[in-house]
Amino acid sequence: MNATTPVIPQADPGAGYRAQKAAIDAAVARALGSGWYILGKEGEAFEAEYAAWQGAARAVGCANGTDALTLALRGLGIGPGATVVTVSHTAVATVAAIEMVGATPLLLDIDPDTYTMDAEELEAVLADPPPGLPPIRAVIPVHIYGQSCDLAPMLAAAQRHGVAVIEDCSQAHGATYAGRKVGNLGQVACYSLYPTKNLGALGDGGVLTTDDTALADRIGAIRQYGWKERYISAEVGVNSRLDELQAAILRVKLQVLDANNARRQAIAAAYDAALAGGRFTPPARRPGCGHVFHQYVLRVDDRAALMARLRAEGVATAIHYPCPVHLQPAYRGRTALGPANCAETARAAEQVMSLPMFPELTDQQVERICAVLRAL
Ligand SMILES: *Cc1c(COP(=O)(O)O)cnc(C)c1O
Repeated sequence: MNATTPVIPQADPGAGYRAQKAAIDAAVARALGSGWYILGKEGEAFEAEYAAWQGAARAVGCANGTDALTLALRGLGIGPGATVVTVSHTAVATVAAIEMVGATPLLLDIDPDTYTMDAEELEAVLADPPPGLPPIRAVIPVHIYGQSCDLAPMLAAAQRHGVAVIEDCSQAHGATYAGRKVGNLGQVACYSLYPTKNLGALGDGGVLTTDDTALADRIGAIRQYGWKERYISAEVGVNSRLDELQAAILRVKLQVLDANNARRQAIAAAYDAALAGGRFTPPARRPGCGHVFHQYVLRVDDRAALMARLRAEGVATAIHYPCPVHLQPAYRGRTALGPANCAETARAAEQVMSLPMFPELTDQQVERICAVLRAL
């Protein structure tokens, strides 16, 4: 590579826009011309189309993925006086949402191969909760990097203990567990539609899905001041609405979500082949599950040097995430941890490195990245 060779970015939401520019521009013009900008026909159509794609009875749009989680918790009546179990190896949003509703987070460790919640530790804390915490009312499994958690034992344990399951599918739109799309397995599922996610808006957005129509109605009311009828709050709510522009854009992008996930899988397979027999192990796939590769993550010891070397070869990388939530300044020393003390979480944070992963990577770019990987 020479000084003028452009660096291949790790993510590129602009490429997603350019790939569908004509259709997105037309959708934006339609939304602008409608004269109705919040909770209108585009939002309703997006909710119907997303629910149909997901295979859920209902979808409810909202302002972002963090709010989707708070709305799910509020909708289930979970707030002060409740503990909610999740992981520390996640976007901080998962933990922030728990505290936003006044509940207490309890953070568990991860399985070192798949980076998802340790199912055995979940069973242990549900059977024998750590002392001093309010009762556990919900668990939020995070399907991180595009791969499902080991849901069967988690769902069984949650059911045994009367605990709600709220799936955080923000990185896993379209991932499957035992042949079913994630998001269809708990009480309610939450999805960020942040621009770089597998389904990404061109701004902020979020959505929830559930088969519980009463819960969907309640969440739909809470997202707009608790209104059931205009100007009359039936219960205390918030303002977290999906706007018509984003909904119109998302309707276009939803049409290519499956194809885009297939492209991500093809890129992942190319990386696997390039790494075969070398010093790095491709990411583990949970048997029987469909991984949609929000990220393609390697575990490496010499991360800083390796990232610099890849950068010099024209390949950008990123770290998801460099610091576990419980070690970040806002949370350090005051967030409850499970019995495993998040030891694998801390180790992962020092070793994970994400290769470029977005559907618009060209074959040429993928081949260039593979050539660099083969030479490592
Ligand atoms: C992106 C993300 C969120 C937060 O979504 P926002 O739309 O940024 O609020 C929550 N959880 C996970 C796992 C995420 O990746």
